Amino acid sequence: LAEAYDVIVVGGGIVGAATAYHLVCGGAKTLLIDREDVGRATEAGAGVLAPEMNRRDPQVWFDLAVKAVDYYPQLVEALTAEGAGDTSYARCGMLLVAATHDEMRAFKEAQSAILARRARLGSPAASDLYAVSSREARALFPALGEVYGALYSRVAARVDGQQMGEALRRAAEARGLRVLMGNVTALVTAGNRVTGVTVDGATLGAATVVIAGGAWSPALGEPLGLRIPVAPQRGQIVHLQLTGVATENWPIVGAFRGHYLVAWADGRVAAGATRETGSGYAVETTASGVRETLDEALRVAPGLAAARVVEIRVGVRPLTPDGLPVLGAAPGWEGLLLATGHGPTGLQLGPYSGKLMADLALGREVSDDLRPFSLARFGAS
Ligand SMILES: Cc1cc2nc3c(=O)[nH]c(=O)nc-3n(C[C@H](O)[C@H](O)[C@H](O)COP(=O)(O)OP(=O)(O)OC[C@H]3O[C@@H](n4cnc5c(N)ncnc54)[C@H](O)[C@@H]3O)c2cc1C
Repeated sequence: LAEAYDVIVVGGGIVGAATAYHLVCGGAKTLLIDREDVGRATEAGAGVLAPEMNRRDPQVWFDLAVKAVDYYPQLVEALTAEGAGDTSYARCGMLLVAATHDEMRAFKEAQSAILARRARLGSPAASDLYAVSSREARALFPALGEVYGALYSRVAARVDGQQMGEALRRAAEARGLRVLMGNVTALVTAGNRVTGVTVDGATLGAATVVIAGGAWSPALGEPLGLRIPVAPQRGQIVHLQLTGVATENWPIVGAFRGHYLVAWADGRVAAGATRETGSGYAVETTASGVRETLDEALRVAPGLAAARVVEIRVGVRPLTPDGLPVLGAAPGWEGLLLATGHGPTGLQLGPYSGKLMADLALGREVSDDLRPFSLARFGAS
């Protein structure tokens, strides 16, 4: 098989687009193939970038996420300088609130864990992550109702996956990335080496293939006997529109039922999201999903009651059993890298994962310890 490309990236969500961008920056002749499935996670993602407020994920996730969000400003600056357009990235801050009295216990536990971690690391600065009064919280996000306790991060940021993905792809294309809309139906192998892909009946060769197919990644591994334990977890997110309200500087709001509010310019507030584990690939807006999302949004922020519902986005998160991504070489195969399984945090991690995967494909030294993210952690496939 002729090696037409140095690298073929399968999947054009934020992970694939970031991988492709970093590859062409490194001089690799790269092809990105994308099927544009309905329900791709990057198009639906809420875009909360705030590991300093995370209290759910393990230390290895946290360490990766901190590097990933620290990398964002530098990447955004490079993309802007390259004329890639608006990435949508902005530091907007985040409030974690107890919206009812019975959330106070969980709030206090979260607050002490988050502040203790901050003090231990010395980062973010104490002046960037601190408790605020109910009145201050409502001044920051006027639609809030009762606030029993509030913690504020000034450094939290938001990003629209769609816009960030497009900016990465545009910048990469300007640097020579080839993009093909198509369906990769199989990987081509010779012995224990992956040598290319079959796309819509044609065969294309590459020294390295990267699987960045989001929730659809397992189908590409199966014929090779590679079990990639990534499953679709549906998320429904409701976009609300306030009229005549300047929301651009409103912070993200999180409470204690797994939901959040992300404000954008021009009165738009995204209220998300369901986490429907075991949903399968059906990309549907359901009565219970929308009710759950709106109930929680209005419980925390009754000031949104009169907002118009302008859009409901639905996407499937690529979820692994332990919630950590799958990054690195495919065990037992040469020329195959895996960049999938980013679950609910792929907008935070994705651009940095792409950089790491490009470094691996380019044969550069990768300073990060990728062992916790190896497919091998799930045992023999
Ligand atoms: C409602 C919701 C809210 C979220 N909120 C946040 C958040 O606040 N913060 C955060 O960090 N993350 C968030 N996420 C998670 C984040 O969106 C995902 O982790 C991330 O977008 C995954 O990106 P991806 O590139 O791996 O997958 P995707 O965006 O799903 O892209 C995969 C692409 O691969 C293509 N593909 C697959 N198989 C093939 C094939 N065989 N041939 C060709 N193309 C193929 C698909 O068509 C698709 O375009 C959220 C997700 C959802 C759904």
